Amino acid sequence: MSHAPGHREILRIVAPNPGPMTLEGTNTYLYGSDPCVVIDPGPDVESHLDVVRAAAEERGGIGTVLLTHGHGDHAEGAPRLGVEVVLPADGEEHGGLRAVATPGHAADHVCLMTADRVCFSGDLVLGEGSTFVPPDGGSLIAYMDSLRRMQAEPIELICPGHGPWIEDPAAKLAEYVEHREMRERRLLAALERGERSREALLAEAWSDVPPELRPAAAMVMQAHLEKLEVEGKLPGRLAN
Ligand SMILES: [Zn+2]
Repeated sequence: MSHAPGHREILRIVAPNPGPMTLEGTNTYLYGSDPCVVIDPGPDVESHLDVVRAAAEERGGIGTVLLTHGHGDHAEGAPRLGVEVVLPADGEEHGGLRAVATPGHAADHVCLMTADRVCFSGDLVLGEGSTFVPPDGGSLIAYMDSLRRMQAEPIELICPGHGPWIEDPAAKLAEYVEHREMRERRLLAALERGERSREALLAEAWSDVPPELRPAAAMVMQAHLEKLEVEGKLPGRLAN
């Protein structure tokens, strides 16, 4: 449990990670007081929810539960807190937080902004590791647009859905954009040379990824290929 740097009104409680994911457990945030807002209650783990309830009690109870998106590791415990649960739409305000639609990682994903330039980013950007963007036709296009949309917001601190505080938001957002553009450049270079085998494309554009992570990288590549196809940049059919 810790306060955000420079923001005592923000408390982070890390949920245990019950799944096989490599990410650190979900960050649950308490924002404000009398009553406070709970952001992403996390998985349905009683010991975690007990800590959240107790910390919220010290802040005058829970007014609203807000979600950044509907994935279970963020949302599953929400109904157990016994108050209204809201996954806000773009532009809505709840408990002093403004929702900005940021689809990509999930279609319903939003970031939540405070008036003093703090961003609760859900899984748009993470304090460590990399965000997964599932291939489902255009999700990567949406994701890149979402990153750019957040680059246009005045943000001084990011409170991510997993991992530590991000105290240099501009650098982190730029790094995320650049990382994906680098993959796309490598992929396009191989395609333009005439490479059509998925295996070879993966080995080339994701050459730095260790073999045990190649299956995950293959899904990321699929999202990139769908993006290129939608944008009309995919030259011809790929072999399997
Ligand atoms: Zn998620």
